[in-house]
Amino acid sequence: MKWVDKHHEFDAKAEEIIERYCSRFPCYIFGAGAAGKELLAVLKYYQCFAAFIDNSKEKQDSGFESEKVISLNEYKESRQKGIIIVAASEKNTPVIMQQLEEADLHEEADFFCMDDFLNKILPIISVYYYDKAFIHIAQITLTERCSLKCKKCAHACYAVDSTAQDLSLEEVKRSANIFFSKIDFIKEFVLIGGEPLLYRDLTKVIQYIGEKYRQNMSVYCIATNGTIVPSDDVLKVCSQYQVLFRISNYSAQLPRLKESHQKLIARLQEWHIPYILGEEDWQWRDYGFEYVDHGIEEDILINTFDQCGTICREIRGNKFYYCVMARSVAENLKFDAGQQDYLDMLTLQGDNYKKELLEFTMGYSDKGYLDMCRHCHGSKAFDYPIPVAEQL
Ligand code: SF4
Ligand code: SF4
Repeated sequence: MKWVDKHHEFDAKAEEIIERYCSRFPCYIFGAGAAGKELLAVLKYYQCFAAFIDNSKEKQDSGFESEKVISLNEYKESRQKGIIIVAASEKNTPVIMQQLEEADLHEEADFFCMDDFLNKILPIISVYYYDKAFIHIAQITLTERCSLKCKKCAHACYAVDSTAQDLSLEEVKRSANIFFSKIDFIKEFVLIGGEPLLYRDLTKVIQYIGEKYRQNMSVYCIATNGTIVPSDDVLKVCSQYQVLFRISNYSAQLPRLKESHQKLIARLQEWHIPYILGEEDWQWRDYGFEYVDHGIEEDILINTFDQCGTICREIRGNKFYYCVMARSVAENLKFDAGQQDYLDMLTLQGDNYKKELLEFTMGYSDKGYLDMCRHCHGSKAFDYPIPVAEQL
């Protein structure tokens, strides 16, 4: 979307959302599990958490994360006002949403799924109601080097030499400092690559960001391909700051990784570090960066961008990128495109900077699209499923 009324794009919508939802706060989290725990920290930050709802009798009896867990019946019978946010796995979310509809509760009136709430509702409420800047997910790419060479890597890391320069430690610190000088709270702050466990100064990065900003995030996370077991130094700081390891599971394509996963998980358990090993049975989608060309017609590019809705923001120094894939593919495949497609965090000043940041995060910019959208299937990438992690 093109900016038409910068700093005021959400004024009307914010009024409607605040009237409709904030008057019904607090929020209940349906799902006393891993996703619910991630959301709990967010809602506690805004002091709008009431209780968990869960179908498990055991959890209702024992509570979860020292919080009360009630049944859906109890919620309904109490006639308390509230908004329910469904925080569950991809598989269970539609089942719970169906249960809520059957209980005469309605999506966007009485409940939301967690992603919709964190992407579309809370960022607006956060700025307009709480005067805080909130982002769902942002990443720092520590290195583009990787221990695998996936031929359809969405960051085109296969084109990066093993001797390539990583982001310097100073630049990583600067990125985090600039980011957190403008963002009050983030649901998930991710260290990514390439393979971030290849980054030489990883211990220092985790320590620095953890010490200064751990209280500004719900989830502090490393996204790894599961090929590397970190050193004790890395494990120690990950344990200290409860860094979540999100392990991508490529073992269907690369069976040897099962053994690496076992070794890695054994070490994480030893250090009491949280982890999530992805499903083995999944598919990638092909964004088509190497062969798509939509041409230069503005309407087509804006439409491709607007339909896309990727949530993968990236901070790199003072540059805040809407799409980490667009930035990394353009650099790694040496496209002459997108060098200006970022928001300069250092220019965010004055009373309205949170609104500008909100608008950029929600997809507004001067052009209304990114140069790399010309070379991308965007949301249509779902129509191009490909096997996971095929190697070159
Ligand atoms: S493991 Fe991840 S970062 Fe590495 S090449 Fe494969 S997709 Fe890219
Ligand atoms: S359509 Fe544009 S914003 Fe979406 S993934 Fe592709 S390059 Fe990124």
